[in-house]
Amino acid sequence: MNKTALITGATRGIGKQIALTLAEAGFDIAINYRKDNEELQNAKKEIEGKGVKCLTVQGDVSKYEDTERFVKEIIEEYGQIDVLVNNAGITRDGLLMRMKPEDFNDVINTNLVGTFNVTKNVINYMMKAKQGRIINISSVVGIAGNAGQTNYSASKAGIIGFTKSLAKEVASRNILVNAVAPGFIETKMTEVLKENQKENIAKTIPLKRMGKVEDVANLVKFLASDESSYITGQVINVDGGMLM
Ligand code: NDP
Repeated sequence: MNKTALITGATRGIGKQIALTLAEAGFDIAINYRKDNEELQNAKKEIEGKGVKCLTVQGDVSKYEDTERFVKEIIEEYGQIDVLVNNAGITRDGLLMRMKPEDFNDVINTNLVGTFNVTKNVINYMMKAKQGRIINISSVVGIAGNAGQTNYSASKAGIIGFTKSLAKEVASRNILVNAVAPGFIETKMTEVLKENQKENIAKTIPLKRMGKVEDVANLVKFLASDESSYITGQVINVDGGMLM
């Protein structure tokens, strides 16, 4: 029987590539999405094209009831979740002076509370199985901060604290919890940046380029594999050397 992986917010971008890379590694995949659209159907087709199962589960990670329901759906179908990747995330950038309370709350509720909601529902099954991997997608701005992203940085820093605390709680059950902190990765999230902004960012990166979704997915694959069985509670940057 194949091992199974749940990736939240996996219809496009980093989440979709993580799903594809884990599918290539032989995992049966469950992808969580908010709206059924062409992006979702394409992701499902591409994952199934790797010769594994792809279950799609609807739900907004910021809503506890949604996460409770869709985790049950996956357990009913697959019996177990071996790997959880908390990837779903949003930005609502703006200087604090101008930031509306809902822009702060939406980002915290999706990125940080969403990570709690899904993990809380998955952890019991991992505890019973006495094994599991949880990989939380944080960000370098959760470590270094970034003007215009007080909400996003707070959510991503929160994910790091959550990761380390949970890693300590569940290590005795052989559940490994790590965070991945990407730098600038080319996706819809960073599409809003103008060409000259991207060039200026690239200049500040020792490897002189933005990252690709594969750069993040390959690290997640390693953290989901037997090769990383002595690594827990860590934050691993994948940022071309931006932060060191
Ligand atoms: P995208 O915007 O391309 O994809 C985000 C995904 O998350 C979409 O599938 C989106 O679905 C989903 N999502 C958003 N909110 C929710 C929700 N409430 N419930 C379920 N799904 C949701 O972003 P990226 O691929 O770039 O980002 C993926 C992760 O990586 C995020 O956590 C992001 O913060 C992090 N990251 C990205 C970096 C980058 O440079 N791109 C850098 C550092 C971290 P929908 O279509 O419904 O919105």
